Amino acid sequence: MISLHQVSKTYVTSNSRFQAVDAVSLEVGAGEIHGIIGSSGAGKSTLLRMINLLERPDEGTVIVDGNDLTSMTDKHLREARRSMGMIFQSFNLVNNRTVSGNVAMPLEMAGLGKKERAERVREYLDFMGIADKAEEYPSRLSGGQQQRVAIARALVNHPKVLLCDEPTSSLDPQTTVGILDVLKHINRTFGVTVVIVTHEMNVVTNMCTTVSMMENGGLINTFKAEQGNTIS
Ligand code: ADP
Ligand code: ADP
Repeated sequence: MISLHQVSKTYVTSNSRFQAVDAVSLEVGAGEIHGIIGSSGAGKSTLLRMINLLERPDEGTVIVDGNDLTSMTDKHLREARRSMGMIFQSFNLVNNRTVSGNVAMPLEMAGLGKKERAERVREYLDFMGIADKAEEYPSRLSGGQQQRVAIARALVNHPKVLLCDEPTSSLDPQTTVGILDVLKHINRTFGVTVVIVTHEMNVVTNMCTTVSMMENGGLINTFKAEQGNTIS
C-alpha cells in the first residue's frame, strides 16, 4: 500500500542544515498497523509526513496505492491526498469552527453538497461516540474527545491510509487505551492501513502488526508480529 524508496530530507535554515531522514526505504502492506519508533529527533515525524508529502523528500520516491506521489502535479497530488487521513499529537482542530464544522472540512474541499456533508458528519460523529458534541467548540472538549473529532475528520473521505503522529502522547493512560481501541476498530472494520509514530512502548505492544525502528535519520530494524498477534 505504501512504498518509500530511498527517501531523504534535509532541513535548511539560514544558518544550519540538518539531515532529518537519510535514504530510508520502507514497505507497508495493505491492512497493516505499522509502528515507527525511536527516540526524539530520530526523524520519525519527518518520515511520516513524507508519506503524504506534507514534507516533500529531497530525494527518493513515495508510492501510495500504486501512485507515485513524488512525480505528480499539484492537482493530482491534492486528489491522491484524499485517500490519506492524518491525526496529530496536538489534534490540530480549527478552534473557531464547531465540531461538525471541523469534520465537514475535508468534505467541503472534496466538493460534496450540503445535505451529503451533514449526513456524513453525523455518521462519523456517531461512529466516534461524540454526536452530542456536534455544536460545541473544540476548546470545550477534553483531549480524548478532541482526538475523536480529529479521527472523525480524518475518516470522512474514506481514506485507505491513516497516518498518526504521536496520537496519544498528550492523553492520560485510560484515554489512550480508548483511542487505540478506536484505531484498531477502524483498521479491522474498514481495512484502513495505519501508520503510527510513537515513543510509547505500550502503543506498540497494544496494536502494531509491524514495527520499524529509527535512529539518527535511518531505519535500523523492522520487526513483524506473528500472524494475528501484535508485537510484545
Ligand atoms: P522525531 O519525530 O523522531 O522526534 P522529527 O522528524 O520531528 O523527529 O525531527 C528530526 C530532526 O529534524 C529534529 O532534530 C528536528 O529538530 C529537525 N526538524 C524537524 N522539523 C524541522 C523543521 N521544520 N526545520 C528544521 N528542523 C526540523
Ligand atoms: P461503500 O461502497 O458505500 O463505501 P463499504 O462497504 O466500503 O461501502 O463501506 C460501508 C460504509 O463503511 C461506508 O459507507 C462508510 O461509512 C464506511 N467506510 C468504508 N470504508 C471506510 C474508510 N476507509 N474510512 C471510513 N469509513 C469507511
